[in-house]
Amino acid sequence: MKNGKIIILASPSGGGKSTMTKKILSDFDEVKFSVSATTRKPRQGETDGEHYHFLPKEEFIKKVENDDFLEWEELYNGTMYGTLRRSVENELKKGYFILLDIDVLGALNVKKMYGDEALGIFLAPPSLDVLAERLRHRGTETEETLHSRIERAKKEIGYTRRFDEVVVNDDLETAYSQIKKIVSNFINR
Ligand code: ADP
Ligand code: 5GP
Repeated sequence: MKNGKIIILASPSGGGKSTMTKKILSDFDEVKFSVSATTRKPRQGETDGEHYHFLPKEEFIKKVENDDFLEWEELYNGTMYGTLRRSVENELKKGYFILLDIDVLGALNVKKMYGDEALGIFLAPPSLDVLAERLRHRGTETEETLHSRIERAKKEIGYTRRFDEVVVNDDLETAYSQIKKIVSNFINR
């Protein structure tokens, strides 16, 4: 059986990755979601093992020391996020396409490791104001965490050109139809 490949969906926080991920997973049976580990607390509606593996910081650090992560980053206010090496590698061997919803620097690291075996899609917000508005509307952030996410977004947007594909997430359905075409072309390449 042929090895699968990696699809990386990256954007600043609030860019629309979770929204697009749901749509991709419902449209493509051959795509599996890579469940990351994080030290942040679950939000309402998030399930352990489905959205993330929620870990105490000590456990996360143990996994870093064991080299269990393909990549990991410390993002906002010391919160850590990482892609588990074993789950990605096992699913690739089974021939699946693995979808990573990760931050911009993590995405560029994975792209460096996998080259043409990975597709990097940057989901760009129409503007920083719209991004802040969407984050506020999502209702998951305090003013403090919102501020740190927007400050980070300003830097992340500078990496746009390093991605294979860029999609502006203005109108949701228009953006998704572009993503669907990109993913479909990659799968059938
Ligand atoms: P991320 O996973 O990248 O942090 P989300 O998918 O949670 O982003 O999107 C952030 C918020 O913006 C959510 O409340 C989502 O419903 C909303 N959203 C996403 N895409 C659009 C869009 N094109 N138009 C309007 N709202 C959107
Ligand atoms: P949130 O706290 O909103 O779920 O995620 C915050 C940011 O962390 C998002 O940009 C998300 O894509 C990123 N993220 C989630 N999992 C990982 C991961 O495993 N590695 C990296 N580098 N970033 C991740």
